[in-house]
Amino acid sequence: MKSKVYILYTGGTFGMKNTGGNGLQPSTWEEIIDYLPAIKNQTFFHYFSEINFTFETLEPVIDSSDITPQIWEGIAHKVQENYKSHDGFIILHGTDTLAYTASALSFIFQNLTKPVVLTGAQLPIFHPRTDGIVNLSNAIYIAGYKSFDLACIPEVCICFNDDVLRGNRAVKTSTNDFEGFSSPNFENLANLEQQILVNKHLLCHSSTQEEFSLKTKFSDSVVNVTVFPGYNPRHLIELVKSKKIEGIVLKTFGAGNLPTSKSWHELISECESTNTLILATTQCPNGKIELGQYESSMVLKNTIVIDGKDITSEAALTKLMWVIGNFNIPERRSILSQNLRGEIT
Ligand code: ASP
Repeated sequence: MKSKVYILYTGGTFGMKNTGGNGLQPSTWEEIIDYLPAIKNQTFFHYFSEINFTFETLEPVIDSSDITPQIWEGIAHKVQENYKSHDGFIILHGTDTLAYTASALSFIFQNLTKPVVLTGAQLPIFHPRTDGIVNLSNAIYIAGYKSFDLACIPEVCICFNDDVLRGNRAVKTSTNDFEGFSSPNFENLANLEQQILVNKHLLCHSSTQEEFSLKTKFSDSVVNVTVFPGYNPRHLIELVKSKKIEGIVLKTFGAGNLPTSKSWHELISECESTNTLILATTQCPNGKIELGQYESSMVLKNTIVIDGKDITSEAALTKLMWVIGNFNIPERRSILSQNLRGEIT
């Protein structure tokens, strides 16, 4: 069956060149296809003759270090505009913040029933050893699943090297390796080996019949605090008192542990009186927090602190920003505690 795939190019190493010795910068889609005769003459995409492609560029193309919530909103609107007319979506994006964008989009999209596949490259498409072609080809299989008799992955996912990862479970784990991403606390949604295997039992399906829609607001009144040996939260308390922030991701040691300090109680009560959310997570790439397992995490247990369980840093931060952006104070804690898109176990 023929499928329709929408490809949005946003920049990133995938399409970068070092022009003028100023370091790598993104090229236009026209330059990319000019360089790649296989794409220009449609032979690359002819290989996928079972698919109708639509290409668009999100202007201006960027190094993904410049991604913002406004750009997430722009990407989401492009998907929404093309939602009914396409079967799957590919977002070509820089790798540095790919996991943030994937998490953010997973929260933005309500009642998603089609694949939204993010991919990029560690080596530009202009390089003879680029991984961009393989990554794009693999993403086309996942987004154009109908043409290949594959199961639909109705989620925001990252397709990189031979892995398909749930977007809000993924982290960039290498600046160099072609296997640039991993999903430390959740199995791959699919593996692209000689055969393509989709792990259907892991997929999240929208639980309602409601139409696809967006919730696109993100608050920037949040901080991401990584505790370290000797850390005392006194500066954080001042910040909370000043009411300049509405949420904190607190990256604890191990399973939720903190250096001993009376100030934690003060922090929690200041947060309570100013309606500032605290989402506790672990600094460890692997595993989850368990408040109360050690005496040194007791201070957080049975308080207003939200247990982030095994959430990634990227998903924790984007979820906090999104919840504050879209919901009123009385509902925020409960929504933040829920597993919304498979981001926590
Ligand atoms: N700095 C680049 C970016 O994120 C890195 C990459 O794409 O691999 O846009």
